[in-house]
Amino acid sequence: MEFSEILAKIALRIRQSLHLEKILQTTVAEVRQWLNSDRVFIYRFREDWSGVVMVESVNDSRWSIVDRVIADPCFKEAWIEPFRNGRVTSVEDIYGGTVTPCYVEFLEQYHVRSNLVVPILISREIPDNLANSSPSTDLWGLLIAHECSKIRKWQTIEVDFLQKLATQVAIAIKQAMLFEQLQQTNQELAESKADLEIKVRDRTRELELVNRQLLKLNQELTCSNQELEQFAYIVSHDLREPLRMVTSFTQLLKQKYAGHLDAEADKIIGFAVDGAIRMEELINDLLAYSQVGNSGKTLELVDTEVVLDQALSNLHLALQETNAQIIREPLPAVVGDTTQLIQLWQNLIANAIKYRTAESPRIEIGATAELDQYLFWVKDNGIGINPQYSDRIFQIFQRLHTRQEYPGTGTGLAICHKIVERHGGKIWVESELGQGATFYFTLPVEQEAIK
Ligand code: ADP
Repeated sequence: MEFSEILAKIALRIRQSLHLEKILQTTVAEVRQWLNSDRVFIYRFREDWSGVVMVESVNDSRWSIVDRVIADPCFKEAWIEPFRNGRVTSVEDIYGGTVTPCYVEFLEQYHVRSNLVVPILISREIPDNLANSSPSTDLWGLLIAHECSKIRKWQTIEVDFLQKLATQVAIAIKQAMLFEQLQQTNQELAESKADLEIKVRDRTRELELVNRQLLKLNQELTCSNQELEQFAYIVSHDLREPLRMVTSFTQLLKQKYAGHLDAEADKIIGFAVDGAIRMEELINDLLAYSQVGNSGKTLELVDTEVVLDQALSNLHLALQETNAQIIREPLPAVVGDTTQLIQLWQNLIANAIKYRTAESPRIEIGATAELDQYLFWVKDNGIGINPQYSDRIFQIFQRLHTRQEYPGTGTGLAICHKIVERHGGKIWVESELGQGATFYFTLPVEQEAIK
């Protein structure tokens, strides 16, 4: 077969397959046949410039050196550069006086009489900034032909052939390297994908667990709230009757015996009457508070203007007595429980009147539409609240004053809080001591779930 034909055949095979070792094996066999030499092999350098015989085709199996690690003691770093520039070396006869004794001794071990050595150079992609300082090819290995039993003068065509072949081999190697890189990248991608999937699964599981726990806690909380409300309701309801008896009998006692006994007895009876009245107030308020959650009324569209009118009318006397000034803006309609919304306004406005200063109360009422809710406010010019108590005042029976200073049981704002929450909103206060207070509450524009 012609040199060009063999080369074309090998080149085609290299481009069609990725099985490097097999390609190289067939290549050395065909080359040896064409050269009719004793041995053709491919030698791959290792990092320390020793190397290993990767594939080999040999005439006589006794001379086989495949898989051997060979370190040429005469190979000097100085040879690397010429090889890298594509230099070919050939020796017609190792005893012809052209090679060093060291090299003769080395070649003799492998029964070499004559050799032809061509470098295999792999091109490298190098970044622009290093283009001038670093070589663009790597000296990967050598393609070597040996004559073991006779001397041989290598023809130019043969040298040319081996050189061209080394270029093809380099292509095959480069291809295999890229393929390996690709496989590695694929593998890494697959691993990181699997890793990610595991992470997502774990996270989802954790979230599900937390969700389930939250749900359970919520249910427990709802249950215990309901139980508490029921308890408060039963206690306050059932206590009312005997308490009314105590109140009326102590009052009777007072009417009948006041002035007939000594002053000490009058005082004691007075305390008993006061205590009973106070207890009645507390119990009535507790009952009112416990009933907010279960009014049983269905929610309807409520005009908060009308609701406010009603609340103001209920407070008519107090407003008049204190000469209070009401400044109001138009208010929207919401979905809610009319009675409870009246109570909400009433409690807030009553407090604005109750906690006034020496000045007449000036109460501003308004609302504004936000994204999916309305924001309402009741602003007064009263005594104000120390901000550190702004949460506490919404808890039941929490007061910041004695009964002597201001009457009350500390349930008004707790009821407001409950009503607003039941309507799906929030309530809070913004104030400074001595600066008046503004109570804000929100109600959703669309009422969905009302507890
Ligand atoms: P009560 O008025 O019966 O004490 P509330 O629950 O209505 O109960 O109010 C709780 C506490 O919040 C009050 O004791 C008072 O100290 C404070 N407070 C409520 N409204 C105002 C207001 N408009 N200005 C100043 N303090 C207020």
